[in-house]
Amino acid sequence: MLKKIIQEEHIQKSKKYVEKGDSFLIITHIAPDGDALGSSLGLFHFLNEYGKDKVSVVVPNSFPGYYKWMPGAKDIVIYEKYPEFAEQLIREADVIFCLDFNEPKRVGKLAGPLVAAEGRKIMIDHHLNPADFCRVCMSYPEISSTSELIFRFICRMGMYELINKAAAECIYTGMMTDTGSFTYNSNQPEIYTIIGELIKKGIDKDLIYRKVYQVYLESRLRLMGYVLYEKMKLYPKKRTALLTLSQEELKRFHYMTGDTEGFVNLPLSINSIEFAVFIREDPDCVKLSFRSVGDFPCNEFAIRYFNGGGHKNASGGEFYGSLPEAVAAFEKALNAYSPDKRII
Ligand code: 5GP
Ligand code: MN
Repeated sequence: MLKKIIQEEHIQKSKKYVEKGDSFLIITHIAPDGDALGSSLGLFHFLNEYGKDKVSVVVPNSFPGYYKWMPGAKDIVIYEKYPEFAEQLIREADVIFCLDFNEPKRVGKLAGPLVAAEGRKIMIDHHLNPADFCRVCMSYPEISSTSELIFRFICRMGMYELINKAAAECIYTGMMTDTGSFTYNSNQPEIYTIIGELIKKGIDKDLIYRKVYQVYLESRLRLMGYVLYEKMKLYPKKRTALLTLSQEELKRFHYMTGDTEGFVNLPLSINSIEFAVFIREDPDCVKLSFRSVGDFPCNEFAIRYFNGGGHKNASGGEFYGSLPEAVAAFEKALNAYSPDKRII
């Protein structure tokens, strides 16, 4: 029996919405990652199994190819490709699940339509400081993935039996990717109780690892070699490492969405490095990723200097300007920064 993390009143209210609702919309954050997709598709399969046939998953933009194997992935509506259809689904849904994000701006251009939609909104998330735009707000930053929260949510409604193999595969994928394959945020014993239950549902966890992490092309490994050998800069006094890649460099290595996933973690394997930063020049903005080991609060750094957010050991933000300007802003921030003990 798992601990009761989610408040009973949230469960009862959501259960009523689930019972009474006819059409359901599940929405998650921009640049969807394994947890965003895993929680969304896990809930999607559960609702289908429950007997709901009008269930859609909408994401703001496309996701990496190594998640396309996930059951239900091909039915996801990508707003950038089908904006009118996505907006219509949001407008017409009776119940809207907001998964793995804490404020409307995390869904990009869908923020306006989402806030304006009349359906009953339910947030299930694990980021700090949830904004107040949902009728039910299940926000638990101490839980390492939203996918784990989906498992808990379904069980608490008394519907464990309705978690089928497809749902279990999606939930496991989210739990695995948001903990770096159980290498961080993963000391809660109940994580492994849940994994045991998912295995009983028929998942092959070893195969899921392979499908997510061992499916790249040669060019991605060459890019990784290049960025480590040619582009890594260390700031020994700050126990910090920086990796950067420009558009030109990405093109040279035939970059595809998802190819730089995991790069930011690589410098943390150096024994003296506690804070790792990856800055990538995207077509529309410069994207920053932050990772730390121990107490360094990446989220505070991202919020204070790069209009971003996230978790203590994994966060991100954006910069509008050139790549060299972003690097200069980062170096200035690194020199100026001393963690605010209050939010660690
Ligand atoms: P990643 O480095 O993998 O893109 O992001 C790591 C985590 O940081 C994400 O799971 C998300 O919680 C957070 N994050 C990344 N980018 C942003 C951003 O631009 N804004 C906010 N608020 N959070 C972000
Ligand atoms: Mn997550």
